[in-house]
Amino acid sequence: MGRRLAQLANLPVTELKGVTPKRAEALATLGIRSVLDVLMNYPRRYIDRTKEVTIRDAPLDDEVVLLATVKASRAVRSKNGREFIVITVADDTGSLDISFFNQRWRLKFLPVGTSVAIFGKVTVFNGRRGMTNPFVDKVGTRVGRIVPIYPQSEKARINSDTIADLCAETLRRSGEFADIVDESLLDRLDLVDRTTAFRGIHEPNDSEEEKAARKRLVFDELLRVQVELVRRKRELERTAVGIAHVVGDGGGPLVRRFHEVLPYDLTGAQARTIVEINEDLAKGHPMHRLLQGDVGAGKTVVAVSAMLVAVQGGHQAALMAPTEVLAEQHHLGIKHLLEGFTVPDTDDGNLFGGAGMDRSLRVALLTNRTTAADRRKILEDMVTGNLDIVIGTHSLISEGIAFKSLGVVVIDEQHRFGVEQRAALRDKGAGDAMPDVLVMTATPIPRTAAMTVYGDLDVSVLDELPPGRTPIVTRWAQTDMDEVQVWQQVRDEIADGRQVYVVCPLIEESEKLEVRSAQETFEELTSGELSGLRVGLLHGRLKSDEKDAVMTQFRAGELDALVSTTVIEVGVDVPNATVMVILDATRFGIAQLHQLRGRVGRGAAKSFCWLVGEAKTPDGEARLEALVRSTDGFELAEVDLDLRGEGTIMGERQKGQNDLKLASLRRDREWVVTAREIAIEILDTDPELIKHELLAEEVDLFLKADDVDFLMKS
Ligand code: ADP
Ligand code: MG
Repeated sequence: MGRRLAQLANLPVTELKGVTPKRAEALATLGIRSVLDVLMNYPRRYIDRTKEVTIRDAPLDDEVVLLATVKASRAVRSKNGREFIVITVADDTGSLDISFFNQRWRLKFLPVGTSVAIFGKVTVFNGRRGMTNPFVDKVGTRVGRIVPIYPQSEKARINSDTIADLCAETLRRSGEFADIVDESLLDRLDLVDRTTAFRGIHEPNDSEEEKAARKRLVFDELLRVQVELVRRKRELERTAVGIAHVVGDGGGPLVRRFHEVLPYDLTGAQARTIVEINEDLAKGHPMHRLLQGDVGAGKTVVAVSAMLVAVQGGHQAALMAPTEVLAEQHHLGIKHLLEGFTVPDTDDGNLFGGAGMDRSLRVALLTNRTTAADRRKILEDMVTGNLDIVIGTHSLISEGIAFKSLGVVVIDEQHRFGVEQRAALRDKGAGDAMPDVLVMTATPIPRTAAMTVYGDLDVSVLDELPPGRTPIVTRWAQTDMDEVQVWQQVRDEIADGRQVYVVCPLIEESEKLEVRSAQETFEELTSGELSGLRVGLLHGRLKSDEKDAVMTQFRAGELDALVSTTVIEVGVDVPNATVMVILDATRFGIAQLHQLRGRVGRGAAKSFCWLVGEAKTPDGEARLEALVRSTDGFELAEVDLDLRGEGTIMGERQKGQNDLKLASLRRDREWVVTAREIAIEILDTDPELIKHELLAEEVDLFLKADDVDFLMKS
């Protein structure tokens, strides 16, 4: 057998030549503590000397590498007040200005005399050749055709060459690496072996070698993650006991009836998803399914169908919303949808059992605002089974709350449903059985990303909007002139009896500041653009009954406009609202803007969304342009992934899984799919990974060290 990574993990970096305790400390600031960390600290770039050109010969508009020396640097201000850092570099053949927008730190990082490698495109601006925002690395004295550049730390005074030396020693002393998969699989996937891969990533002879190495290491990272996710999913399926719901013809009597009384036909996607869910519900282990669907795709109908499967079998269902406002709204909506529905009033209430008198199907709302007396009654009815569907916030599954037999739980908007909440569900089902769980999210993420982030869940996608929606017209108001037009249209729509949302600038640092800014916006608008109109103010610091009063007024059409912070981001549903104005829109992310926009366009009338304000960065510009161009949440999710990389998508959920060093969910899409297929293939034939001991060891090494017990955490 060859060298195992777990062995290197146990060797402190001080084992390597010349690494004193002091240097070890410095390396630790780069996250390098063990010899394994050295091996897996990959170059962030390579200088390909075969692509190196001189300043004089550099072609225009083509990616090139220049080796040069810093001659001068300065900060300049453009006419519109933006600050640029301009650095003049030169080689034997000439000089060139490279400029950066707003990056003052560069001045200190690149003092005169520094040797640098510059990666980017040369362009001509004002008759002078230059480069804008190129990559710049300090270079040492290393020679060779391909020189790796490692992430370096100015503070710790470790340069790229030092790290390359440590790598060389690690590779030399490691010898051959043991592999986690068979040679035949490598052949099939056209992947190089591990030894070749680690050498190829650190010391490639040409860019082909580097690419082959990267491909192999990316596969390993993704395979480890998928093995862990698939294994976890199977474990749950094997061990957790659920309720095998009886799903009859067309879903069963209540479900069928529900679909019959709906004033519209199910969309194809709704019908398909309901079948998927019903298949899960019929199984003996608990469902654990994520329902992704764009705003307005009609997730509620799917959720109610699932809940009715539980109810018709004599069980109960719970729906949890992230906020009280949403819980109330769901309560109103669902009560309305289920008006006149009955269930047999027998002890076990099983609809398939038949006999007995009927009673109305009961839906209750339980929030912090429920009065003590109502609360007592509701809690009692939950225990006796007198209540069929309970809607509330997360307090629904808190301790001390008991159900007679909780069959299905729906979690809307997926917010913070973690391990503890899951555990809390365990004792609320029938006997030892866990209820089935459906998590709904209106923040679509691309399929391959979902495979990685939610790989331990089953995923259904509502990828079709109900027919007859008029797409929301989105415009970007960049100038003051545009803004005049925004408020004019707002007043026109209000004059036509429509309602308007105005979302205030996001201030992430502090809710207090955000509330103040909302108040200021409110005052400005009511004494200015919206004077004489009925305007309400909604923000997070209002007491719940105040929030409630404002929302009720708005819903009832007693307010023309609602000035609000992002508290209206999810779920709020007022069909008469046709204009969404988002102030300082550049501060919001794509997903958030899309959610906010989804608050309009919910009725038959044409709706508008105004994104107000100048973009502050190129990314900001790309975000706002994407919103203007597309109303498709999945398309926007792809753009978001492209702009921000996967870090943000993985977010909290993936924090422990820091094994994805090289793999990019964006660039390596096909490899995500391949890795999942291979993981399933391996676990199908070898569920305990007995014949894949090394793979098992690495999964533990990389994925178990941190707390990765994040089932359903968002
Ligand atoms: P979301 O997926 O955002 O939660 P909702 O469930 O709130 O969407 O549904 C949005 C709107 O679409 C609601 O007004 C609902 O009545 C309507 N709707 C849902 N399904 C259909 C359908 N199949 N045909 C027409 N309208 C539908
Ligand atoms: Mg919804």
